[in-house]
Amino acid sequence: MIPKYTLYPYETLPSTNDMAHTLAQTGAPEWSVVVAHTQTAGRGRLNRKFHSPRGTGLYMSVLLRPQIAPCDALKITTAAAVSVAEAVERIFGVDVKIKWVNDVLVAGKKVCGILTESRLSGEALDYAVLGIGVNLATPSGDFPEEIREIAGAVSDGTGDLGKMRTQLMEGILEAFYPRYQNLNVKPCPFLEDYKARLCCLNRPVHILGEDGTLEKGTPVDLEPDFSLRIVMEDGQVKCLRAGEISLRLS
Ligand code: ATP
Repeated sequence: MIPKYTLYPYETLPSTNDMAHTLAQTGAPEWSVVVAHTQTAGRGRLNRKFHSPRGTGLYMSVLLRPQIAPCDALKITTAAAVSVAEAVERIFGVDVKIKWVNDVLVAGKKVCGILTESRLSGEALDYAVLGIGVNLATPSGDFPEEIREIAGAVSDGTGDLGKMRTQLMEGILEAFYPRYQNLNVKPCPFLEDYKARLCCLNRPVHILGEDGTLEKGTPVDLEPDFSLRIVMEDGQVKCLRAGEISLRLS
């Protein structure tokens, strides 16, 4: 079932997440959905740039007002990742994997970035903005040099991209809605779906720390809180939380 959403469509925005924050602060209800044909300052984690060229991507941000503990906010991202994967697979007929924790991959290339930003009111979660950027097709003239090796698209660009954009947006909302309603259910009902799509389990990876350190290890399991259990090169076992590290597939 698709939630009853209100669409805020724009040609150009600095960032759909920023506009969703503005809506949240003026009292907009959840399922307010901001979309733009291009973002001039689309961002990922740690203020990294998310390249958002006109016409070839879906750039959407969903305002949510979840009744969850702030420590569970990561589940919004993981529910979104598995929902994007499911929707892309259904609509475009391609195999979709997840690179822990928030990247969606097709044929080993990143086709979607997800950025959830939450705001607290006291100790409780006031609202969250779920930002999703999907490359529908490779932009004309290709992706910029710095992401050419890692970025990919969900389609070969033939067909009506406008139609695909709407279909994918609704497909993502439809897949995400039931998971969102169950964010407080334990054990997490979508943990196994998520885990089944992980591309990094039982294969060696490089682990990039926030401080720039680089280590080698092999992720072996996913914990109930979506931490990754990793056997490090020296045999030590660590459970690492999202935000602490980034994975680089070896
Ligand atoms: P990490 O892999 O280090 O955990 P991340 O995947 O979480 O990082 P995000 O912060 O989600 O990264 O997204 C920003 C990064 O995504 C950029 O630094 C760049 O490498 C890459 N990127 C930027 N624009 C695009 C795009 N349109 N498609 C695919 N990848 C992109």
